[in-house]
Amino acid sequence: MTAVAAPLPSSLTSGLTSRLAERVTASGGATTRTVEVFTGAPLAELPTSGPEDVATAVATARRAQPAWAATDVAERLRIVRAFAALVLAERATLLDVVQAETGKARWDAFNEVLEPVLTANYYLRKAPGLLRSHRREGMLPLLVRTGEHRRPKGVVGIISPWNYPFALSLSDAIPALLAGNAVVIKPDRQTSLSPLLGAELLDRAGLPDGVCQVVVGDGPGTGGALVERADYLGFTGSSATGRVVAQRAAARLVGCSLELGGKNAMVVLDDADVAKAVAAAVPACFTNAGQVCMAIERLYVHRDLHDEFTARFVAATRALRLGAGYDFGHDVGALASPRQLDAVLAYVDDAVSLGARVRTGGRARPDLGPTFFEPTILTGVTSSMACAGEEVFGPVVAVAPFDDDEHAVRLANDTEYGLNASVFGRDTARARRLAARLRAGTVNVNDGFVAAYGSMDAPMGGMGSSGLGRRHGAEGLLRYTEAQTIAVQLGALSQPPRWLPRARYAEVMARAVSVLAKAGIR
Ligand code: NAD
Repeated sequence: MTAVAAPLPSSLTSGLTSRLAERVTASGGATTRTVEVFTGAPLAELPTSGPEDVATAVATARRAQPAWAATDVAERLRIVRAFAALVLAERATLLDVVQAETGKARWDAFNEVLEPVLTANYYLRKAPGLLRSHRREGMLPLLVRTGEHRRPKGVVGIISPWNYPFALSLSDAIPALLAGNAVVIKPDRQTSLSPLLGAELLDRAGLPDGVCQVVVGDGPGTGGALVERADYLGFTGSSATGRVVAQRAAARLVGCSLELGGKNAMVVLDDADVAKAVAAAVPACFTNAGQVCMAIERLYVHRDLHDEFTARFVAATRALRLGAGYDFGHDVGALASPRQLDAVLAYVDDAVSLGARVRTGGRARPDLGPTFFEPTILTGVTSSMACAGEEVFGPVVAVAPFDDDEHAVRLANDTEYGLNASVFGRDTARARRLAARLRAGTVNVNDGFVAAYGSMDAPMGGMGSSGLGRRHGAEGLLRYTEAQTIAVQLGALSQPPRWLPRARYAEVMARAVSVLAKAGIR
């Protein structure tokens, strides 16, 4: 196995990791070792948070939360604005950390680091309106004055996966914080440094002590302890774990949003511009080495375009620069772990052994680093192959032809998942009509996933096994609040006056309800 040429950046060898280790809520002596993914060499030794440490983190957050909730929204906005500015100012270090602990290409790391800034900027504009109290129709006009108010849930647990550890921890924390909650973040243990650095930047931005805690540890132990204690859970991860989290949260009657896996399809219609579809399909399939929940893993191309599309797609994919480096010189980085490499290899081997054809890629690249795998295009994938229906979560896509729109819809919807989909076609009205028939939380017309994911004002999330709830848009913030109705009785009409017989009162009321309905008032 050849060592990678790129040395660890100086930002990571100058005491940063030991400083971040102090930000972990942990008391025992146990530690978690993380590795630099490009080489497999040790990266950091972080304290591990046991269940008692999670209890401490939640208790600290719970103590700090009421004062935070009582802080003016304007002050909360100021802190989040300062955080976004710090992320931009410290982006070089953040990119180094994200790359080191995930193995992704620098361009992918840049997009990851930018994401919480875009989220912050969006909610800085929208949060005041979303959190404002609203007058609602009272039970009876003039006699009841009713208002809807938004209260924070309390302590929100944010559980995040290893593929976008900084973005998915911080972007989900920002609206929770703006809504007046404290947060406890539980990242994947291999990818805890970047959320810890994010928490440090929140401190520097002026977030009061205790409002944001980070715990480090394994899923069932540390994550499970958080699920047992938080007042709400923002979970991102696999559908299998999402089901466990949902059951535990249900048992405690606390809410959760579940952003889970996908088996996303792209449909290239017969009127599509093939060059544009290919140009979009490459990043849609191979961004972050395919370890993107919204990445395209199934590509259905109209039979008339199939061969031309596949030839061009193969050529464009072969041109991708695969490799390690803390600069912008590569298009695709490593897979995040040897375990992930084994999983991807197993899917490809299984497909090939059952007759699939590898059009490009299909090989691990130990010459580049321990977990590199070539961007891979398969054809001839059939339903007997595991990669046909299961989420590979790697740089592997299956291309197949379809005959007409009905066939395309049937193929695209033939999955338990429902996270993301894409439709390509010159006639965008027709493409939009087809998009509406796809069972997916986001559908992109003439794009892979960025158009929908980047539309912060619209909800993003999954149907079916892809999850519950939504991030982004109003829902992305309101999920972290309880709606409270306060109604002031100004008259005294909910009970009949003593002098009026009930039968008479009922008659008057029935007539009044009918009149108000006819007048369109109630
Ligand atoms: P995972 O479910 O194994 O782990 C996710 C997080 O949950 C980690 O922090 C893990 O430690 C924790 N965890 C594991 N078991 C737990 C338990 N019993 N209780 C509480 N926490 C527990 O997922 P992963 O392999 O880290 O991530 C990859 C998956 O995430 C893929 O399926 C991908 O599609 C999905 N994902 C979805 C989105 C989305 O927005 N829909 C975004 C990114 C990734």
